[in-house]
Amino acid sequence: MDDVDLGTTLRVTIASPSAVCRPSVALGPCIDHRGIVTEFSSSDSSVVSDDDCEVKTAWRPTAPDPGVWSLYRAGGMHRRPESPNDQKGSGVDFIAQLGDFVDGCNQDLPGGGRKALQELLGPVDQGPPVLHLIGNHELYNFARKEMEDGIPLPGLKVPFRTSAPPALDAEAPSKTSSYYSFSPADGWRVCVLDPYEISIMSHGGGRPGVDEVTLEPGAVSWCQENNPNDITKEDFARGIPPGEARRWVPLNGAVSEQQLIWLEETLELASKKNEETIILSHVVLLPEATPGQNGLTLLWNYDKVLQVLRSAERPPTAVLCGHAHLMVNSRDQVSGTHHVTLPTPVEANPGSDACAVVEAFSNGLLKIRGRGDVLSSTLACSTHATCT
Ligand SMILES: [Zn+2]
Repeated sequence: MDDVDLGTTLRVTIASPSAVCRPSVALGPCIDHRGIVTEFSSSDSSVVSDDDCEVKTAWRPTAPDPGVWSLYRAGGMHRRPESPNDQKGSGVDFIAQLGDFVDGCNQDLPGGGRKALQELLGPVDQGPPVLHLIGNHELYNFARKEMEDGIPLPGLKVPFRTSAPPALDAEAPSKTSSYYSFSPADGWRVCVLDPYEISIMSHGGGRPGVDEVTLEPGAVSWCQENNPNDITKEDFARGIPPGEARRWVPLNGAVSEQQLIWLEETLELASKKNEETIILSHVVLLPEATPGQNGLTLLWNYDKVLQVLRSAERPPTAVLCGHAHLMVNSRDQVSGTHHVTLPTPVEANPGSDACAVVEAFSNGLLKIRGRGDVLSSTLACSTHATCT
């Protein structure tokens, strides 16, 4: 189908940095092994030297479309912007960073997670609004409250925040809520979920098993009741067969009853306004959207969320997630909603990346234009009359 005929209404850069979790070597639920640097450093001096932090992610404007930003795996690739215009990112309406942006290992490095954020966000500070989804690695670095309030960074105009960027005029239970929705273009609504509202580290502030951090007793009990291993120790997925049962690990979480109600009401309102919706969540919402259907990166109460999506008068066109590191493109057979799990650039081949530009059209069609490890696809909405 021809893009010009459809009339693009929205262009979005989507990236899933996904700092790697290695439960098999962790004392706690998830140990981080990533440092993050911006590619615009002129030498390797800013690259963290810890052996465990050898892989980094960085932004770069993507040729031949320098207005579009791409997250990629850095491996000696340091490229300065060719012109100041390269840094404006004017080719997309917003950037969605799907979570696990800054790894917990930065806690052990000079400047900590804030320095990593400062370096990584510098190049996109003057660009389009950036949505930062809350991932487990964000919680290993920062307290939830400071992320929701916004973390100011030296020299940067825009704080790092997991609540809605003010420029988007979002609708949310509160200004600092990590779940919200907004309409970036006529006929479209984007819903951002917080899959760690209930989790063993829902208040964040450190790495369980490494830093001094208080675990949430209710969430620990809930997870532990469904897992035969000690979830506060390593190998918490040991012996659990691939499938839905494997979701009961501490690197996942759940949405609250209030968030479910909010989602239901938001979809209802979107339907009344004839808006198509896109859901963004760090954690996967459909078992078939986890790699090999292993269930390891599935939301604890995914069934409740699916129930809301399936019973909506106009089910979402797509759910876009991160967390699993690998690309999975699946479709809910009940609702017709596409569930796309995006791969991480930290596991892409050096010089490649894993990022996508998503284009939304006025007839409800979504085009994912993949870069690097992200496969391109065209997604039809589930109920719109003109989508077949
Ligand atoms: Zn994650």
